[in-house]
Amino acid sequence: MADYDYDLIVIGAGSGGVRAARTAASLGAKVAIIEDQYLGGTCVNVGCVPKKLYVYASEYGHGFSDAKGFGWQFEQAPRFNWDTLREGKVAEIARLNDIYRSLLLNSGADLIDGRGTITTPSQVEVNGRQLSAPRILIAAGGWPYIPDIPGKELAITSNEIFDLPTFPRRLLTVGGGYIASEFACVFHGLGSHVVQTYRGELFMRGFDDDARRHLADEIQKSGVDLRTQTDVVSLSTASDGIQAIFNDGSSEIFDTVLYATGRKPNLDGLGALEQGVRLTDQGVIEVDDQYQTSVPGIFALGDIIGGPELTPMALAEGMAFAHQQFGTGASAPGYDNVATAVFTQPPLAACGLTQAQASAEYHHLKIYRSEFRPMKHTISGRNERSFMKLIVDGDSDRVIGAHMVGPDAGEIMQGIAIAMKMGATKAQFDATIGIHPTAAEEFVTMRTVSEEILL
Ligand code: FAD
Ligand code: NDP
Repeated sequence: MADYDYDLIVIGAGSGGVRAARTAASLGAKVAIIEDQYLGGTCVNVGCVPKKLYVYASEYGHGFSDAKGFGWQFEQAPRFNWDTLREGKVAEIARLNDIYRSLLLNSGADLIDGRGTITTPSQVEVNGRQLSAPRILIAAGGWPYIPDIPGKELAITSNEIFDLPTFPRRLLTVGGGYIASEFACVFHGLGSHVVQTYRGELFMRGFDDDARRHLADEIQKSGVDLRTQTDVVSLSTASDGIQAIFNDGSSEIFDTVLYATGRKPNLDGLGALEQGVRLTDQGVIEVDDQYQTSVPGIFALGDIIGGPELTPMALAEGMAFAHQQFGTGASAPGYDNVATAVFTQPPLAACGLTQAQASAEYHHLKIYRSEFRPMKHTISGRNERSFMKLIVDGDSDRVIGAHMVGPDAGEIMQGIAIAMKMGATKAQFDATIGIHPTAAEEFVTMRTVSEEILL
């Protein structure tokens, strides 16, 4: 048996890597974890956490005007200070970085600051040192991708948006996915003039079509200038900002242009491909159900293997991997009924199948839809409507899809996901007594079939 420095070397101290390292160390493994940028990875530093803080800040923008309908009066219009928000965020992230450092050190893992490069299937080079282990785990995450257009260097990504030195009065967000849509809403709520461009007909691909249409209407009604079938042809410097030229020949000047056109695996300098680690057709690392890559001894998980690129997924994979390797075994987490939320304003949340996916898999569907004005907006004066939808397998009565656009959609969907994971039927949803008055109760009171489909 070869003599190794460690039982496990983890590359990347983000959501998946930290969870795998801590769990493996708690199971008695000798672990090293290598990180070259920031503890906690994307989620803590330039993802979920700062994003959610900025969503909270942005929601006040609508809240102040809602409050007037409830009798609140202000002498002056409230003013927003970008520096205060940014500095509050910086302090909170520094606190979280420290917590991650303590968690790792207390777990007994060795934390090494530096960039890890795999040099053999059992060796990683960091800061000029060669470390060895029979298992190397790649948890290196992803990196924003900007397509090649003239002037692309003028655009920023989600990595930079949180720390802009000055507040962008005119913002262009390019893309129709999670990040472009969330930031369009964040900055609109904070007071920017926001244009969001999407190259296709309907944004938020992968979500249910009814929910996508509803969200597009609501975002447009709220004041975000969402332009479909629109793409940026080039960017250039103008005297008063960045000039974007669009595919219809028109042009407009912005202070900031945010590209959110997807993320690519963080493979640069990693050495994985050089060792023979194979990628899938989607360009992510190919793994089996033990997270082993095509090279024995090299494993991978989290965003770098694709699937739902979400923090809770990376955490679950990290935990499963550690138990598979150093515990009594564990199966990979289930990839069905993974709930997700997009923190737009209003938010979008979903669990299970879209109607299009359900139509491809099932023969008999019952669709329940509900659209209503949230109680709060009956007197807030805000012209916003909520949408809910359940998709039921007509043969087994199981709820196979749940979709919502409306306040607290993410909070509500988490509970629905538990029921769906347990295989709940529509009859069981109906037998559940609602909590009144809430929007969530609508999910247990939808009685009228909007559409019955025999395929
Ligand atoms: P990461 O968290 O990206 O960690 C990878 C780490 O590896 C990084 O710290 C990186 O510096 C390090 N690294 C890379 N290469 C090397 C190397 N060679 N040597 C040393 N270190 C290396 N998900 C949600 O569930 N909810 C949300 O609300 C949400 N919001 C998001 C908002 C934004 C703007 C973004 C960009 C993402 C968001 N996500 C959200 C997705 C979430 O952040 C990711 O799914 C999650 O961070 C993936 O974890 P990971 O461990 O795979 O990778
Ligand atoms: P997404 O994959 O969600 O969206 C990318 C968008 O960019 C799509 O609308 C895509 O269009 C468009 N696009 C891709 N290439 C081009 C191009 N060349 N020109 C113009 N448009 C293009 O990626 P994001 O960057 O928004 O987010 C990455 C991932 O991070 C998400 O998928 C999600 O898993 C995670 N995330 C999760 C969050 C959450 O949980 N709330 C929040 C933020 C991120 P098309 O649809 O036509 O391909």
